Amino acid sequence: MKTILVTGGSGFLGSHLCARLLKDGNKVICVDNNYTGRMCNIEDLLDNPNFKFILHDICNPLEVSEKLDQIYNLACPASPPAYQGKHSVETTKTCVLGALNMLELARRNNAVILQSSTSEVYGEPLVHPQVENYRGNVNPNGIRACYDEGKRCAESLFCDYYRHFGVEVKIIRIFNTYGPNMNPDDGRVVSNFVCQALQGKDITIYGSGDQTRSFCYVDDLIEAMVRMMNSEKGFIGPVNTGNPNETSVKKFAELVLQKIGGPSKIVHKELPADDPTVRQPDISLARQKLNWSPQVSLDEGLDKTIAYFKKQLKL
Ligand code: UDP
Repeated sequence: MKTILVTGGSGFLGSHLCARLLKDGNKVICVDNNYTGRMCNIEDLLDNPNFKFILHDICNPLEVSEKLDQIYNLACPASPPAYQGKHSVETTKTCVLGALNMLELARRNNAVILQSSTSEVYGEPLVHPQVENYRGNVNPNGIRACYDEGKRCAESLFCDYYRHFGVEVKIIRIFNTYGPNMNPDDGRVVSNFVCQALQGKDITIYGSGDQTRSFCYVDDLIEAMVRMMNSEKGFIGPVNTGNPNETSVKKFAELVLQKIGGPSKIVHKELPADDPTVRQPDISLARQKLNWSPQVSLDEGLDKTIAYFKKQLKL
């Protein structure tokens, strides 16, 4: 049994990770400030004697009484509408100060620490599909910069803690992921389209809808995360984790409409600034080092996600 701390543990990915780690027989300490995390995501875990929840903002240092074996650093708003605008400064602080505080905690505990980085480090990619050694094309002062540059800085901190202090670090770059426990109001494309269609509202495509994303089902992503954490010593990544199955936003809207039916029509709204035109992970490294590849098709994953949102919306 390991003692494992998960920051962002009541969020979308964090809540799935906590459940998985408990199922594997570990002790789990879940840390979240519940800015975008939600207690309903972890309510089934609260009675488990091996689970503990701490309400805490990782921008502030954290001390725990338990000796930690592993830390997963997931805390950060991840939806563009959640990290842009009035919360942009907190987003950068969470990425940078949060990473520093968690790296210090890992150092004191001699724990392995995994950073949830992002495909956003590639910005508007000029290499497609994206490989890990592509250095990206990020606008350093645009509306996405708080997240993109924050996550880039966190990667830099992780590598320096590895080089200078010998902390065992692991970095994954997460591409678009979807599934149960997403917040219906988070403003991302999967939650928006599915909830709009379920409620018979118009489906809002931003821009032409020709921009592409590659959607990974949450269970696949969690498997990659756990494999990376437990990968061979000295392998720090970064490793792309996502599903290479690329689709346009327009095609995705059509798929959602075809599955849900109803009176919804497609409408077009303005494309937000710096919205990446294409995105697809090259997962050769994950295949090779983690023996991992996604198993859940968009068809199957979307059905499970639709069932979840139906319940959330009480339909
Ligand atoms: N998008 C859209 N309609 C929506 C929400 C998002 O057309 O209601 C588009 C968005 O402009 C982007 C893509 O869908 O091109 C994915 O957006 P999301 O916010 O899910 O994540 P991102 O990949 O941009 O971080």
